[in-house]
Amino acid sequence: MKAVVCETPFDLQLVERAVPVRGAGDVLVRIRRVGLCGTDYHIYGGNQPFLSYPRVMGHELAGEILEAPAGSTLRPGQIVTINPYLACGTCHACGRGKPNCCSRIAVLGVHTDGGLCEQVAVPESAIVDAAGLSLDQAAMVEFLAIGAHAVARARLQPDDRVLIVGAGPIGVATGLFARLDGAAVTLIDTRRTRLDRARDHLGFADVMLVGPDTPDLLVEKTGGALFDCVFDATGNIHAMRAGLGYVAHGGSYVLVSVVKDDLVFPDPEFHKRETTLIASRNALPPDFDRVIAAIRDGAIPTDALHTHVVTADELPTRMPQLIADADHVMKAIVQI
Ligand SMILES: [Zn+2]
Ligand SMILES: [Zn+2]
Repeated sequence: MKAVVCETPFDLQLVERAVPVRGAGDVLVRIRRVGLCGTDYHIYGGNQPFLSYPRVMGHELAGEILEAPAGSTLRPGQIVTINPYLACGTCHACGRGKPNCCSRIAVLGVHTDGGLCEQVAVPESAIVDAAGLSLDQAAMVEFLAIGAHAVARARLQPDDRVLIVGAGPIGVATGLFARLDGAAVTLIDTRRTRLDRARDHLGFADVMLVGPDTPDLLVEKTGGALFDCVFDATGNIHAMRAGLGYVAHGGSYVLVSVVKDDLVFPDPEFHKRETTLIASRNALPPDFDRVIAAIRDGAIPTDALHTHVVTADELPTRMPQLIADADHVMKAIVQI
């Protein structure tokens, strides 16, 4: 079968590989679409420090069932997406119903070979039914679930004032689900193109370009109260430090993006707000369910999110172009 392998940083190759052997409890899936995201661009660029090469990338997966274990309710041809966070099932976090932060987690396409290939064999528990969604929509479920999970972590109240810092795919996904929860959403970013897309195609009326006067403008916009919940989706340590200053007294700060750095806050600023500080990692099965239901309901503008179409054959040459054109790429989806 055909597979796209990242042999070393900056070296993607289309190769022939053996079809995976299905284990007793595994499902064999014919992969048809793979969404690309920051993680993949970092793997390609050699910025994932603990990743070993060669690696088949791909964790935003959509396909059709080829073979299921005996007794399974899954049927050949059924459209599915895959929960790529393979959890151990036995650690403390798994025992507490939090497989998204399993201490022995293996993420498809990161810690283990992923889905940029024609077929994968995965445990039946990783299969998520995507009936009613197109293949492209099914490939967008995972990144949207990251946003849905962040919003679930925040436990928003209707009419909460929410600030999203970073209007890339994860920031936008978070904004979409915060909006569905009834929050008033303000979106800020340093890139004009991303804000224009969010405003003109995704329905975020309140967007603001980050500049030196941002703190003053946000104070002004909120009558001095600032935001009940601030979500960081920047991957930028300076933005993550600054974000605390936008949290209202009594509010929450949710860190969705992750950086390899120490995050330092002035305690008086943190304490006087009685800030609730929350990390959000990956997503849980109910987040996947919420995303699929929202797409089926037409509540997610998936066509506007899907900005680039790439074939597997083109990917080795298109990958550097997509990275160079990052400001204009919301979601690129590979056709396998
Ligand atoms: Zn992703
Ligand atoms: Zn575990």
